[in-house]
Amino acid sequence: MTITSFQPPTRTLMGPGPSDVSPRVLQALARPTIGHLDPEFVRMMEEMKQLLQYAFQTQNALTFPVSAPGSAGMETCFVNFVEPGDKVIVCINGVFGGRMKENVLRCGGVAVTVEDNWGEPVDPGKLEDALKAHPDAKLVAFVHAETSTGAQSDARTLVELAHRYDCLTIVDAVTSLAGTPLKVDEWEIDAIYSGTQKCLSAPPGLSPVSFSERAAEVVRGRTTQVQSWFLDLNLVMGYWGGGAKRAYHHTAPINNLYGLHEALVILQEEGLEQAWVRHAHHHAALRAGLEAMGLGFVVPEAARLPQLNAVTIPDGVDDAAVRGRLLEEFNLEIGAGLGGLAGKVWRIGLMGHACSARNVEYCLDALDRVLGGMDAPITRGVAVDAARRVLEGGAASAQRA
Ligand SMILES: *Cc1c(COP(=O)(O)O)cnc(C)c1O
Repeated sequence: MTITSFQPPTRTLMGPGPSDVSPRVLQALARPTIGHLDPEFVRMMEEMKQLLQYAFQTQNALTFPVSAPGSAGMETCFVNFVEPGDKVIVCINGVFGGRMKENVLRCGGVAVTVEDNWGEPVDPGKLEDALKAHPDAKLVAFVHAETSTGAQSDARTLVELAHRYDCLTIVDAVTSLAGTPLKVDEWEIDAIYSGTQKCLSAPPGLSPVSFSERAAEVVRGRTTQVQSWFLDLNLVMGYWGGGAKRAYHHTAPINNLYGLHEALVILQEEGLEQAWVRHAHHHAALRAGLEAMGLGFVVPEAARLPQLNAVTIPDGVDDAAVRGRLLEEFNLEIGAGLGGLAGKVWRIGLMGHACSARNVEYCLDALDRVLGGMDAPITRGVAVDAARRVLEGGAASAQRA
């Protein structure tokens, strides 16, 4: 058999990531590959840093994309900040907090966990109790937007608390960046990482990170060598740091960086705050449709992420069968539940380019048809109209919601 070129189907991606990629970004990916030290490429890298500073709302000089997916951004933070024996308070309210703990242990650190129920935000009161009980802690780590549950934590308050007890902070913003308000400088976040395939709507494979000057000093002042050669910031900065001495560290994923650059140009054109409003507005419309249909949310209203909607699966409905039919008949991908929520929820993403009126209506209509066809206990034929009423109300109704 002769294997021929791979032609993927065109899907609508409304899961927990990757999200739909804008045609402009797909075109950028196909531009000619040039050298990773070519002066034109270097010029693009400098623009990339500025664009990421805007997205993160920071002046941090140490802001760049790690050449690997969000998990590598997470690992970059932990391997550079955690030395053997360091105590780290890790807040866990879903899958990704659990991975942070795993990172601490692999760095030889001591993890103190603050646990909250999946679907709820991190409780600042519990974090403060842990900070009081562990005055020797060096770091606090938490997830801003827990993609596994759809819950958003109050990053500003958690960082403030950590600083009051002399701890640095590591914040996971993989799903929050560009989808929901995030202000690195104003909130004084020390180390933060994100991903490209959630609300930035670029392909996966890069992880934007940013470090405050105070955080950079901590890395420079380490007494032990960073365990990872590839992720050691002291070495990576020889390439990303700029200046005349820029030198080869690893070959940058050149075309993927074109894609991220374009995605960030699109974000700048729209305006970051406008992107936050767009996510809130379309979430309100999706929610109106789902609730009209009779479906409910897992996360308490005040902590719901607009870009990741964890929806309770009605009793007696076969989770995998519904997702399978959505994919086969509608080319629509939504996410399954993870961990303790597996089989109990669907995760419907409204991220970046996928966060549109067309997608809200398309998803509601597809769910109506698939669930209706299975005689699931829903109210049929009302969801799309309910969503449309919110969509026509304009962005103002989202800001009120
Ligand atoms: C997706 C995600 C990650 C991991 O990113 P990858 O690109 O899959 O490695 C980490 N944290 C959160 C909150 C995520 O949503």
